[in-house]
Amino acid sequence: MLDQIKGLHHVTSMAKDARQNNEFFTGKLGLRRVKKTVNFDAPDVYHLYYADEFGTPGSVMTYFPFPNIGKGRPGVGEVGTTVFAVPEGSLGYWRERLEKEGVAGLKTEISFGENRLVFEGPDGDGFALVEAKGDERAPWVKGGVPSDDAIRGFHSASLRLRDGGATEELLKFMGYENVDQSGNVKRLAVKDGNGANVIDIETLPGAAFADLGAGSVHHIAFAVENRAKQLEVRKALLDTGYHVTPVIDRDYFWAIYFRTPGGVLFEVATNEPGFDRDEDTAHLGETLKLPTQHAHLRDYLEKHLQPLGN
Ligand code: ZN
Repeated sequence: MLDQIKGLHHVTSMAKDARQNNEFFTGKLGLRRVKKTVNFDAPDVYHLYYADEFGTPGSVMTYFPFPNIGKGRPGVGEVGTTVFAVPEGSLGYWRERLEKEGVAGLKTEISFGENRLVFEGPDGDGFALVEAKGDERAPWVKGGVPSDDAIRGFHSASLRLRDGGATEELLKFMGYENVDQSGNVKRLAVKDGNGANVIDIETLPGAAFADLGAGSVHHIAFAVENRAKQLEVRKALLDTGYHVTPVIDRDYFWAIYFRTPGGVLFEVATNEPGFDRDEDTAHLGETLKLPTQHAHLRDYLEKHLQPLGN
């Protein structure tokens, strides 16, 4: 069993409208945009990152807004719900705030003994806020949400699978342990993680497979401290028979990717070098940053990318 993985690093999803996406995560949820850059493979598409003040691994929600993308169809083989942690007693504030903002799909429930507020993102994305006990992570406090209520980072992600068995075995190999079960949902957690420690596996044997589109999660990334730990994880996965990509430089972290037995795309990303690599912490996310190979496109991109509004 591996011990290098310390919880989630980031969650990356698809969106239709960049401006609406930016407004939702900064304006409604009060997260900080920590990077405005472009997709490495499609530089005319933004890659937007929302997180805490620093872009701390375990708090980073990222989006590719493709203007012409169709809506995703929920199903198995994908991430179902991305869950953010908020302080105990804050869900009343959040329900009122999100109602006032016209956020869709609001539903309060109790899940694994914790209060949870389910809601939808701008493209029907599956989200929830959960009142997490004893979460010591510092929030971004300049996003318009009081510090007593603000999002601390991710709590968990749930995987919707037709058969969860092989993915559960994989997660145990990656260092996760079974900690609870409720109905058709098995909860796994990693010890000594970064706070985003939980993965839920929801088993839906007869369900149809998901279609990727706006509102779908593209992949989830797990955090390792550095490149040496990442190479250890990569070797262990290869030795177990997984097809893992070479290490790829993503400017703010190093990444490897592999497809899991249930169909979800996993990434393992390094905490280094971080989002202050190319701009000061005080000004993260303010100006368009381009990967070196796309730097020559700056004039074109600054004219053609949709203005975000703020
Ligand atoms: Zn990623």
